[in-house]
Amino acid sequence: MCASLLKIKEENVGKVIGIDLGTTNSCVSVIENMEPVIVPNSAGGRTTPSIVAFAKNGERMVGDMAKRQAATNADRTIVSIKRHMGTNWSARIDGTEYRPQTISALILMQLKADAEAFLGETVTDAVITVPAYFSDGQRQATKDAGKIAGLNVLRIINEPTSAALSYGLDHGEAQKVMVYDLGGGTFDVSIIEIGDGIIEVLATAGDNHLGGDDFDQRIADWIMKEFKKQYRADLTRDFAAMQRIKEAAEQAKKELSATDSTQIVLPYLTQIKGEPVHLDLTLTRSEFERLVYDLIERTAGPVQTALSDAGISAAALGRVLLVGGSTRIPAVQEKVRRLTGKEPSRNINPDECVAKGAAILGSTLQGQSLVAAGTGQELLLLDVTPMSLSIETVGGVATRLVERNSTLPTRYSKIFSTAAPYQRDVEIHVLQGERPMARDNKTIGKFKLKGIRRAPAGVPQIEVTFDIDANGILKVSARDMDTGMQQSITITASDRMTEEEIEKAMRDAHEYAGADSLKRDALELINASQSLLNRAQMALKESKKEMDKETKKQVKADIASLQKLVSRFRLEKVTQEQLDEIRQAKEKLEQSAAGIL
Ligand code: AMP
Repeated sequence: MCASLLKIKEENVGKVIGIDLGTTNSCVSVIENMEPVIVPNSAGGRTTPSIVAFAKNGERMVGDMAKRQAATNADRTIVSIKRHMGTNWSARIDGTEYRPQTISALILMQLKADAEAFLGETVTDAVITVPAYFSDGQRQATKDAGKIAGLNVLRIINEPTSAALSYGLDHGEAQKVMVYDLGGGTFDVSIIEIGDGIIEVLATAGDNHLGGDDFDQRIADWIMKEFKKQYRADLTRDFAAMQRIKEAAEQAKKELSATDSTQIVLPYLTQIKGEPVHLDLTLTRSEFERLVYDLIERTAGPVQTALSDAGISAAALGRVLLVGGSTRIPAVQEKVRRLTGKEPSRNINPDECVAKGAAILGSTLQGQSLVAAGTGQELLLLDVTPMSLSIETVGGVATRLVERNSTLPTRYSKIFSTAAPYQRDVEIHVLQGERPMARDNKTIGKFKLKGIRRAPAGVPQIEVTFDIDANGILKVSARDMDTGMQQSITITASDRMTEEEIEKAMRDAHEYAGADSLKRDALELINASQSLLNRAQMALKESKKEMDKETKKQVKADIASLQKLVSRFRLEKVTQEQLDEIRQAKEKLEQSAAGIL
C-alpha cells in the first residue's frame, strides 16, 4: 500500500533486501513484481522482534522465540541493542564477548535467512536504515554488523528519508513533508522536500533516547508502585516478574491505542512469604496519558528545530507523515496535530514503510531506474548530515567545516595555519555537535600531521578536508600545502571495531551458523531415527510369524545398534562423525526392515 504506483523501468529486478533494523522490531522488504513487499519471518510475522537470547544449553534464539522466553531467561536475553550501537557496551555470555555489532549481526542473519527462505535464493545485498540522528560511529557500527552477518551493505539510509521514499512514489505533487517518526527507542523528525522525482532532506532533528520503550517503562513503574501500595513488596530485584511486567505494560499500552481502559492481569507474579501473589490492575487511557505526558511533550523541541533549520513554518508543510509504532497512540497524534496544525496522513503503514523505502532504494542502487509515477523522471535521493562537524582551533574553539543539514555526499576544505612559531606538527581534533567550544562537542577523532617546515606562526598553510560519503561516513584529511605531506583518517569512534575484529566476528558468526545447522540436522536425524525405531519394533512384534529367522536376527541387531547410538547422543556435544554414524545405522535398519515396514 505504500508504493502502489511504483514503476520500474527494467523487468529483471535484482534481490536487494531493504532492512529496517529497529530498536524493538525489525522489518524486511524486497521488490517483487515491481512492488516492495514485506518479507514474512518463519512464524509468519511481518515484523521481527529485535531480540537475541542465549538458552542455557548454548542455543541461540532471535526474534519471536527470543521474546517468548525473555521472562524466564531475562539475564541472557538482549533487547534494544540499537540503543548501544556505537558505544563500547559489551556482554559476556558463556565465555564469549558480544559487542552491539555482533548482537545486531545475529538479528541481521535471521532476517537474511528469512528473506532467503521467502525468495528461495541466496541474498547478499542489503540497504539498512538508521535514525537520522545516528552519529558516524553508530552508522559505521551498523555497517559492520551487516558485514558480520554476511551482507554487502550497499547503503545506510536515514529512516525518515526511507519512509518518504516509499511515500514519495505514491504522490506526484511537489511539496514539503514532515516525517514524525516515533519508534521503540528513537525519535526523529525530518523535513523533506518531495517533487519532480527528487526527495531532498531539508533538515533533521530528534532524540536518540525517546520512544515506546520509555512509555512501557512508565507503565511498568506505575504497576510496581501500585503493587508496592497493595502488598508492601518491592519487585525490582525479581527479574522474571519485572520481565512479565514489562511485557504486560507494552501490551496495555497497545490496547490503550484502541480502547479507553485496559486490564493488566498477571497471575502468580511472585511469592510473598511462600504464598503466590497475583496482580490485577486497571489502567485507563487518561491515566496512561498522564504518565507519559512529558515524554510526548519532549517531541515538540525537535519538531521546532527541524522546522526552523528548514527555514519554514508549519503552515508551509504539505503533509505530515507518521512513522513508527508509537505514532499509533492517540495522544501522540493529537500532539502532532497541535504542533503542525495539520491532520497527519494515515495512508502509510507506520511499521513497514521504512523497510519498503530501503528496498526501493536497494533496487535503484542495483541499476534499476525507479521513476515516480506520473513524473517520468528518475529519482534522485539527497540526504543530509545530522550534526555540524568542526575541528578544534586556538583557544579551544570549535571551527565549523560542515554545517548541520548539509546535503550528502559532500566535501569541504578549509585552510588553517600554525598557532605557535616553528611548530613542527599539528593535531587535528575532529568534533561533532553544535556548540561553539570544542570541549562541549563530541570528539569523534584525532590525528597528527607531522613534519611541517619550520616557520613563524601563521605561515604554514594546512588544508583540512572533510569528505562525507553517501552513507554519512566521514573521512578527514590534512595536507601541508608547502611540503605536500598528507595525513588522513576515516573517523573511527573509540567504540568502532577494527577490521580484524570484524573478520573474527564474521568467522565466529559463520562457525556458529555451522554449529547451529549441525544441531538442527542432528535433531531432525534423531527424531527420524526414534520414529523408525518405534515403527521397526512394532512391526517386529506384529509380523513374528511371517518373518524368516535370518531377517529377524538382522532387524534385531540393526535396531540394537541404532538404539545404542541414539541413546548415547548429546545435542551439546554432537559431531559430524557421530551424525554420519547414526545416519548409516538408520539406513541399515531401513534396508533390513524394508519388508515389514
Ligand atoms: P517501531 O520501532 O517502529 O517498530 O515501533 C515499535 C514501538 O511501537 C514499540 O514500542 C511498540 O510497543 C509500539 N507500538 C506498536 N504498536 C502500537 C500501538 N498499537 N499502540 C502504541 N504503541 C505501539
